[in-house]
Amino acid sequence: MTPEEFRVAGYRLIDWITDYRNSIESRPVRAQVAPGDIRSRFPETPPDSPADFDSLLQSMTEDILPGITQVQHPMHFGWFPSNASLESVLGDMASSGLGTLGISWESCPALTEVEEVMCDWMRQLAGLSRQWEGTIHDTASTACLTALLLARERSTDHCQTRDGLQGHEKPLTVYLTGESHSSIRKSALLAGFGARNIRTVPVDPVTRAMIPEALSDQVRDDRSRGCQPCVIVATVGTTGVTAIDPVDSIAGIAKENGMWVHLDAALAGTAMLLPECRYLWSGVEGTDSLSWNVHKWMGTVLDCSLFYVRNPEHLIRVMSTNPSYLRSAVDGAATQYRDWGIPLGRRFRALKLLFQLRLEGIESIRARLRRDIANAKWLGEQVEKEKHWKVLAPYVLQTVCIRHEPPGLAGEALDAHTLSWAAAINHSGRAFLSPAKMEGRWFVRVSIGVQSTTRAHVEQLWHLMQETAKERGPSPSG
Ligand SMILES: *Cc1c(COP(=O)(O)O)cnc(C)c1O
Repeated sequence: MTPEEFRVAGYRLIDWITDYRNSIESRPVRAQVAPGDIRSRFPETPPDSPADFDSLLQSMTEDILPGITQVQHPMHFGWFPSNASLESVLGDMASSGLGTLGISWESCPALTEVEEVMCDWMRQLAGLSRQWEGTIHDTASTACLTALLLARERSTDHCQTRDGLQGHEKPLTVYLTGESHSSIRKSALLAGFGARNIRTVPVDPVTRAMIPEALSDQVRDDRSRGCQPCVIVATVGTTGVTAIDPVDSIAGIAKENGMWVHLDAALAGTAMLLPECRYLWSGVEGTDSLSWNVHKWMGTVLDCSLFYVRNPEHLIRVMSTNPSYLRSAVDGAATQYRDWGIPLGRRFRALKLLFQLRLEGIESIRARLRRDIANAKWLGEQVEKEKHWKVLAPYVLQTVCIRHEPPGLAGEALDAHTLSWAAAINHSGRAFLSPAKMEGRWFVRVSIGVQSTTRAHVEQLWHLMQETAKERGPSPSG
């Protein structure tokens, strides 16, 4: 394709994307397809001759769109807000269009330096001190794995340069809670800690937050049994119920015991753009690393996960390689992001943030977040007022955890009822919700925060939930 052919096709693609975005509200929220449906629309063997752009666009409409779950739909309340602001989409297109190669400062100086600037702008916008330096990862999963590797290496005086964990005599232990994201456990396993050395610290039965006294006891026990407590992963805004672990107390315990604290703020990092929410991570300055997915609630298109550390020298020591073919005259004078994480090659992700911050502007982002928090509060209050409906956890941000509990229903019958009304809503395509479990029982999470979701949509959802739960009600009294 020549640049001139690209110009023609590119404008058409923009039109196609714009038409899609305009049509979202008229589409079902969840893709109405079964496993294999999309795959079966494609030939089994690769094409042997090129197609024209028209037939490709037509295939996008006919074969791809049916397999898209509309997470940008204002009635999407599942998982988490996965906003893809059009400002950041333009930045992503610019990034792809430039076709840069991020393997060293020299291979694209702008990529490195704009990433430095964006990480520093975001640091300031979240109210973090100057001691933090950041980089952009693909996901919070990668950020957490990186953090656990840093913790492992600090606790073992860089065991990777000798026999690795295989030569370390004391088992290193990791602390999390039952509410921690599944990626935390996965990172601990991948970083070589071993399932036996992962401790699930008890949580408060109401707030679901880590109990610092229980953490302290566990750490002491582990020490006396010959283990070496290494790292605590605290979460501000857990996935299930938005629990807020007490960062301040946790950082204090870590300090006393020479442990690393990684703060998982994948979702709730965005709330820190609002000064009135920053009490939620009070103590953050005493942690060692933190991750924040701006590709969630804030609205930067996937993937864009900020990872901050207080001590970049340690990070670089653990992650750096210095092969001859990547050396250049500026080594030492410039940041080499390949030494800040696992991958060598990187995309120019910082452009997504630059476009979003320049074009959408921080105050409009903040207004949207405040709107979402107010909508969640409104919904929580409606549910609490209604007979046989329950809110199961404090709603501090944008997620409300709900259960319809008709009289006489408990245990597995209640689970079946919960899953049934949630599935009916999801199947209808009118809204989407994702159920989750707390203490072994199902409930429904309403995660508010799609860019186009207004109070009217939340009201509509509340009516839909009431109607559907009633229709699905197992008994006349339900
Ligand atoms: C979404 C989320 C993650 C995982 O994020 P990825 O970027 O998909 O790896 C981890 N922790 C929390 C609290 C999350 O909300």
